[in-house]
Amino acid sequence: MIGVAASPGIAIAEALVLEEELAYNRVQIEDIAAEKARLEEALATSKDELIALKKKVEEEMGSEQAEIFEAHLMILDDPELISATENKLEAESINVEAALEETIEGFINMFASTDNQYLQERANDIRDIGNRILRNLLGVESEPVVQLEKEVILIADELTPTDIARIDQEQVLGFITKVGGRTSHTAIMARSLGIPAVVGVREILEVIKRGSNVIVDAVDGIVVVEPTEKQIAKYQKKLAGYQQRKEKLAQLKDLSAETEDGHRMELAANIGTPADVAAALASGVEGIGLYRSEFLYMGREALPTEEEQFEAYKEVAEGVDGATIIRTLDIGGDKELSYLDLPVEMNPFLGYRAIRISLERTDIFKTQLRAILRASKYGNVKIMYPMISSLEELQAANHILAEVKEDLVREGIEFNLELEVGVMIEVPAAAMIIDLLAQEADFFSIGTNDLIQYMTATDRRNEKVAGLYQPFHPAVLRLIKQVVEVAHEHDSWVGMCGEMAGDRRLAPFLVGVGLDELSMSAASIAEVKEVIRKITLQEAKEVAEQVLSLSQPQNIEEFLANYW
Ligand code: PEP
Ligand code: MG
Repeated sequence: MIGVAASPGIAIAEALVLEEELAYNRVQIEDIAAEKARLEEALATSKDELIALKKKVEEEMGSEQAEIFEAHLMILDDPELISATENKLEAESINVEAALEETIEGFINMFASTDNQYLQERANDIRDIGNRILRNLLGVESEPVVQLEKEVILIADELTPTDIARIDQEQVLGFITKVGGRTSHTAIMARSLGIPAVVGVREILEVIKRGSNVIVDAVDGIVVVEPTEKQIAKYQKKLAGYQQRKEKLAQLKDLSAETEDGHRMELAANIGTPADVAAALASGVEGIGLYRSEFLYMGREALPTEEEQFEAYKEVAEGVDGATIIRTLDIGGDKELSYLDLPVEMNPFLGYRAIRISLERTDIFKTQLRAILRASKYGNVKIMYPMISSLEELQAANHILAEVKEDLVREGIEFNLELEVGVMIEVPAAAMIIDLLAQEADFFSIGTNDLIQYMTATDRRNEKVAGLYQPFHPAVLRLIKQVVEVAHEHDSWVGMCGEMAGDRRLAPFLVGVGLDELSMSAASIAEVKEVIRKITLQEAKEVAEQVLSLSQPQNIEEFLANYW
């Protein structure tokens, strides 16, 4: 059977089919007020659970995974969900369990019937939340830990982040689900746990039974149920090869990212919270090229204080030997803060976002800058502004930074007076004025995730136009080259912190056009380092030249994929 390889790896074990244990009857109820009170109580308990779960996942798996529960908290707080359930209660005089489940089903059907994969996957989150509230209504133990005697492959219609957070990770060798895509939360969590997962296997529940033998090949997206001896032997061989490759990559950990002829690239990690530093260091980097500070602001009821921020920034700065580049608050777009009451916009990615908010809410911005400056005493801290689109914005941000510095000097608080200031290049307008921005900035980091969406006019989350969101588009590649050249002419260094930096196929090109630093998720470091160590600078330059002579993304992708 074929599915989507969502988290790489291969596993062979017995199947364990996960079933839901939430049963109740639909009954008529007279005391509606009592049912409403039960709903309120279940919502409050669910909220407490989610806050605790978010904290646990943040500590154990990192901030990206914990963000999922932030999304759940937002759904839980959604007045539409609550009022629709209450309306149903009143209109039909039924028990709250039935009213809730039918409301949730309505939302799920609405999302699932769209063509939009992002919305389809959000249906999974709504189901997860619905089940949680239902469990609390029914008084079913809400976080049962699945304790397993032996190693299994978990099979389910869909695995929710809650399911994954409560399983015994040692014993689960793989996941197979009927629903889901590569960007689903199941996939994100499986990747961070390093558990092979194949999702979107439509027929899986019909053909599998508890105890069936099963092979998950999450390298090629294949599932084999009740394999023959021959198939088992074949996959054991494939698994051994896969493990060998992983071990080989692990050996690169302490080697530098240097080309064969000694040209050194700086490799750094992207992190969301101080808890991510350990995985970054384990991958063999010395510095943090992108600290997405907004995670500190998410999943809570109010803004973080200066002291809280200072502690977090200091912890990261002290924890790494290299630089820590802290990006100032990048909220808006698809990242919300419920307590800030951001306006609902037609085009949030083109709207009130990132530095635009900071320049208006100078109270929030100044608090953050104070915390960053204070932390700069404890390590090699640098500041980076997100989504700059003009020189004026950069000047305005720097002006506020200067004011904050003056305040600290007046108060006798120490900080690094030479602290470097950088600009994220993620808006085409900024990319075209590097010479001007260089007057006011020490370095640049190309944020390709946004740069591609703005250059190609393609929403980065919209599956319908995903084919147009093209890292290999000649326009994107030309602009990268131009940014590096102009920045170097003006004595600024340039890094890249978008997903493109972690794509091993692009590594020769990125080295060849002269980027100074590549910052990526910890999981990609070894792969990229391996490529860099196998080429010479001259070869990389030739690859870059060749790539820039090609006219179509497909040809470029093919050329780079076949380069090895
Ligand atoms: C980017 O846009 O490339 C980037 C690194 O920022 P984010 O993904 O957080 O928007
Ligand atoms: Mg961005």
